[in-house]
Amino acid sequence: MTTTVKLYNEDPYLKECTSTVTGIVDHGVTLDRSVFYCQGGGQPGDTGVLVLPNGSTKKIVNTISQRETGAHLHVLDEEEALPEVGAEVTARIDWERRYGFMRMHSCMHMLCAVIDAPVTGGSVSEGRARLDFDLPEPIDKEAVTDALNKLIQQDQPRHFRWITDEELQSQPELVRTMSVSPPMGHGEVRLVEFEQIDLQPCGGTHVSRSGEIGEVRVSKIEKKGKQNRRVIVEFA
Ligand SMILES: [Zn+2]
Repeated sequence: MTTTVKLYNEDPYLKECTSTVTGIVDHGVTLDRSVFYCQGGGQPGDTGVLVLPNGSTKKIVNTISQRETGAHLHVLDEEEALPEVGAEVTARIDWERRYGFMRMHSCMHMLCAVIDAPVTGGSVSEGRARLDFDLPEPIDKEAVTDALNKLIQQDQPRHFRWITDEELQSQPELVRTMSVSPPMGHGEVRLVEFEQIDLQPCGGTHVSRSGEIGEVRVSKIEKKGKQNRRVIVEFA
């Protein structure tokens, strides 16, 4: 199984690329390189299309890591005929959907900076996202909304930086999520930094400046169990 070069790790703004089909697994296609984000770290897999040499398009309904092999699988609609191995295709993501995930995922990093408590879970979905905190005391919805929008308005630049697994292990304070472990095991981990706001290892896709997130609001804070609070954020 050849590995897929994940182009979005360096440039999350790439909307399409040309790729070669390297394999067919179940109802999925593997490519030599891809702009499709693979579901993980609380962020959904990308959807979009593959454009074949004859101009026909195949719909991609999800992008997942195959459990047995770890292959980066572009999952086709059940109905779709599979392209041939070796075919040159254009892989194009549903950009509007992905850009929403980028804005929301970056917003969750702002939320980490606002609420000083360990994160126990979280996920990003269309138009909203949530993080769960290990936090016994109640927090004020309006205060969190205000603090979030202040950080967003600062319009701080985002940087990616790669460090080795060993370097990360020697700085455990960088890891904010207890439930979602950082993407280790490849030798290197990517750090996502929003200048003066937040720094943490993360494999997700992020906007290049915090201002791109736009105005948001905390729609709900739920108490989950004895000391967990779930904070749900939506675009305002
Ligand atoms: Zn993240």
